Amino acid sequence: MSKSTEILEEYKKYLMPTYSPVVVVDKAKGSRVYNPEGTLYYDFTSGISCHNVGHCTEGVVKAVQEQVARLGHCSNLFASEPQVKLAKKLVEISDLGGKVFFCNSGAEANEAAIKLARRWGAANGGRYEVVTMRNSFHGRTLATVAATGQSWCQQGFEPLPVGFNYADFNDLESVKAAVGEKTVAIMVEAVQGEGGVMPATEEFMAGVRALCDEKNLIMICDEVQCGMGRTGKWWGWQNFSVKPDLFTVAKSLADGIPMGALVSNAKYADVFTYGSHGSTFGGNPLACAAALATIKIIEDEKLVDAAVQKGEMLKAALQAFAEKYDQVLDVRGLGLMLGMVVDGDPKAVIEKFVEFNILALTAGGNVVRFLPTLSMTTARIEEAVEMMGDALEELFGAE
Ligand SMILES: *Cc1c(COP(=O)(O)O)cnc(C)c1O
Repeated sequence: MSKSTEILEEYKKYLMPTYSPVVVVDKAKGSRVYNPEGTLYYDFTSGISCHNVGHCTEGVVKAVQEQVARLGHCSNLFASEPQVKLAKKLVEISDLGGKVFFCNSGAEANEAAIKLARRWGAANGGRYEVVTMRNSFHGRTLATVAATGQSWCQQGFEPLPVGFNYADFNDLESVKAAVGEKTVAIMVEAVQGEGGVMPATEEFMAGVRALCDEKNLIMICDEVQCGMGRTGKWWGWQNFSVKPDLFTVAKSLADGIPMGALVSNAKYADVFTYGSHGSTFGGNPLACAAALATIKIIEDEKLVDAAVQKGEMLKAALQAFAEKYDQVLDVRGLGLMLGMVVDGDPKAVIEKFVEFNILALTAGGNVVRFLPTLSMTTARIEEAVEMMGDALEELFGAE
C-alpha cells in the first residue's frame, strides 16, 4: 500500500468527513506541491488563496523561525512589536485611515465586522440587520453561515442567528429592496469566490456605496479570498471607484499561518472599546511576523502587478479552451482569481486535472476555479496550460 493510500485510509477513520481529499500533500515549494511518493503537482489552489506569495517562501520561513524562537505568543494582555508594525502596515496599504482588529480566520474576521456593525447600530437607531448577497460566502460559524446567502451550508443548523437579509449580487434594486428600518450594514465580496468567481460590477459597487452613504449604513467588504493582491490590486474593492468602511482579510494574510483581521476607516475605528471584543491568539507575534514577511514579499517582488499580467495570460489560455470546447461556456474573474464555467459537474474536470498533475478548485455549481500563487512563473503557467489542454482533450475529446 502506498503512503498516500495509507494516510487517506487513516484520514477516513479519524477525521470527521467534512472534506474528502484524494491527494495527500507532503511538501511544497513555490507553486509546486508533492505527495508522499514524490509526485509533483502544479498548484492552482494556493491552499485556497492562502499562499499568494508561494509555498515555503524563504522570507516567510525565516521570519517564522526567528519569531517562534524569540516569542511565539504572549496573549493580548501584552503588546508586541510585530503586532503594532503589522497594524500600521495594513492601515497604510488600505488607505482608509482607521484601525485594525486581529483574529485567526476569515469567519472570525467577518464575525468581528458583524459585531462591530451591531455595536454601532445599537447606539445609532437600534439597528442590527446586515444585508448580504445570495451566492456569497462568509464563513462557517453560526453568524457567518447565516450571513452566507446559500442554503446548502445553513441546512440542519437552524435556528440560525437572526439579523440577516439577502439580496441579489450585482442587482442594486434588490439590495435597495432588502434594506429596511433595522438595516445597519451591507456586506459584499468584490469578487464572489465560493459562489462562482463572479466579479462585482462598477455600477453595483458604486451603487452600494451611495446607498450606504444615503441611509447611514456601514459598507463591509469581505476580502478574505479576493484580497492580498489576488485580483491585481491590493484589495478587491480597489478595482472599483469605492472605499468600504470596513473590510476583512484572512487566507493569504500570513501566508499559511492562520490569521484574520478586520480593518476599519477612521469613522468606525473606536466602536469596539476596552473589553467589548477579543481573541486569545488574534494578532500573536508569530502570525504577525509571518504577515509582515508576506506583505514585504508582495511589495518587493511586485506581485500585485504580476497578478494582472499573469492573470491576463492565464485568462487568454482558458478562453482558448472555451473556443475549442463546447463544454467550456465562459471564463471570468479578475487578476489571478479566475473561473472557467463548464457545462456539467466541474468535479470531473478537477479529477482529470489531478491525473495530469494539476490542482484546481471548484466554485459555485459549474465553475473550475484557478487561484495560483501570484509568484508562479510565466514559464510554469505555460507548461501547466499545456497539461490542462491535454487533460481537457482526454475529457472532452479532440475537436
Ligand atoms: C474562505 C472564506 C471565508 C472564511 O474563511 P475561514 O478562514 O475559512 O474562516 C470568508 N469569506 C470568504 C470570501 C472566503 O473565501
